[in-house]
Amino acid sequence: MCKNRKINLKENPGGIKKIIMQFINIGNIEMPFIFTQTNMKQSEFIAIQGIMNLNHGKKDERSVKTLMSRYENQILKMYNHMQKKPVERSEKEYLEICDQYINAYQDILHVKPDKIRQTPMKLTHLGWAYKNNTITLNKYLMYMNEDIIQHVICHEMCHIFTLNYCDTFKHDDNFYGIFREFYTEEEEKAILSN
Ligand SMILES: [Zn+2]
Repeated sequence: MCKNRKINLKENPGGIKKIIMQFINIGNIEMPFIFTQTNMKQSEFIAIQGIMNLNHGKKDERSVKTLMSRYENQILKMYNHMQKKPVERSEKEYLEICDQYINAYQDILHVKPDKIRQTPMKLTHLGWAYKNNTITLNKYLMYMNEDIIQHVICHEMCHIFTLNYCDTFKHDDNFYGIFREFYTEEEEKAILSN
C-alpha cells in the first residue's frame, strides 16, 4: 500500500538535510505525505498547504503502515478537501525561488540575515527567525506554492527587520507595522487557506 519514493537531494555546502517524501496510493491517487516522530501520546494527521503530515507519537506502538490503513478514508477526505496540491519542483528550482525572495526583501528592508538554513521539520511551522539573526525555513516548503514560500520569507524577514531596527522579536505592533505593508490580513488569509 505504501510506496516510498526517495527524493535524493545533493548535499550542498550549506549542509542541507536530505528530505524524503513518501507517497501513499489511495483511490489511485498518489498522495504525498511526510512522517514525523513526535513526543505526543497519540498520532495525528494534519494537512497543511497541500501536504499531509502524520505525526506519529513515539509511544504509539502501532506501525506507520497500520496507521495509514486505518486512516485511509480520513486521508482521502483530507486530500480531496485541500485546495492546494503539492508542487513538483527540483531542489535547485526551490532554492532559486528562496534566493530570489530573500534578496528582494533584503533590498526593500535593508536587513540581511547572517544565515539561512533549510531543514525538514513538522509542518506546523514553516519558518523561524532567531535572535542570532538567522532564518530557518522548513524544507517541505519545496512542495508548496510559490505564494506560500514568499509569504514565509517575508514574515521571517520582517522579524529580522524588527530585530535589527526595533530590538523586538515578537508579533507585536512593530512587527505588524512592517509586515502589513506587504500583506493585508485578507491577503494573508487567502494565501494560508488550505
Ligand atoms: Zn513570526
